[in-house]
Amino acid sequence: MVEEDYPKTFEEFIVRFQTEDDCIDYIAQLRWPNGFVCPRCQYGKAWKTSRNLMHCIQCGHQTSITAGTLFQDTRKPLRLWFHVMWWMMSQKTGASAKNLKDVMGFRSYKTTWTWLHKLRRAMIRPGRDRLRGTVEVDETYIGGEEEGTRGRKIVKKALIVIAVEVEVGKLGRIRFRQISDASAESLIQFVQNYVEPGSVVITDGWQGYSSLGAKGYHHEVRKIARSKKKASDLLPHVHLVVSLVKRWLMGTHQGAISSEHLSYYLDEFAFRFNRRLSTYRGKLFYRLMQQAVITEAIPFKKIVAKRK
Ligand SMILES: [Zn+2]
Repeated sequence: MVEEDYPKTFEEFIVRFQTEDDCIDYIAQLRWPNGFVCPRCQYGKAWKTSRNLMHCIQCGHQTSITAGTLFQDTRKPLRLWFHVMWWMMSQKTGASAKNLKDVMGFRSYKTTWTWLHKLRRAMIRPGRDRLRGTVEVDETYIGGEEEGTRGRKIVKKALIVIAVEVEVGKLGRIRFRQISDASAESLIQFVQNYVEPGSVVITDGWQGYSSLGAKGYHHEVRKIARSKKKASDLLPHVHLVVSLVKRWLMGTHQGAISSEHLSYYLDEFAFRFNRRLSTYRGKLFYRLMQQAVITEAIPFKKIVAKRK
């Protein structure tokens, strides 16, 4: 295990990252936590050139420190990126493009919007653990003017499915996914991707979930008719998370989100939510940075291109 090395407070942050070199060294440290190894000859010693290349002292091969990271080809100072990342992670309510533009003095809204979207792409950890234990799962509409009816096609609003780990007396981790319909295929696939088999999965009586038992889950169904409760009382943890997400989208982002980009906002919400009990805000910065060094920067054109 490599020791986690990150600034815990803003004061530590500004002391740590005073120059571009401080930032590039940190990126290199996170990219190669066990030390740099030349990709061509596997030799473990290199020197850093003035153009931020690792120059292998054995074979002379040069490896860009930022290639394949979020910071590849950026024309802005790395310190600015670091500041934006710290700022985005240190606020409990998250960051909006308008907000960021005002705070950092960016000239264009498009630039700030693109930066935040690039960072959101780094908020999903590849190969992350599936939820386990007891998990509530439900789907809901976000957006649109009225609450939707299940089973119908989405019109100007997005259908999402949510899984929430329920620990004794508190919420555990959460996962979201935007889905095209509430069919069994979409819902079961979501559960299989995000919840460990053998877990207790609690859902309402919707038939889309009926094959969960056969897929290796302990399926607990809560039906409205039997309990005479409101839908939100059946799955209280999921509904609490949904109300927090809606409040966040309306508050921080003022509802200004199109359904093509909604997934990425949900990723950001989940990233922050799942780390809400971290002692230091710096830990969130560190986790984001760890993922930023293995996430390639996506150009603006690709971000705005329609997905699928
Ligand atoms: Zn080499």
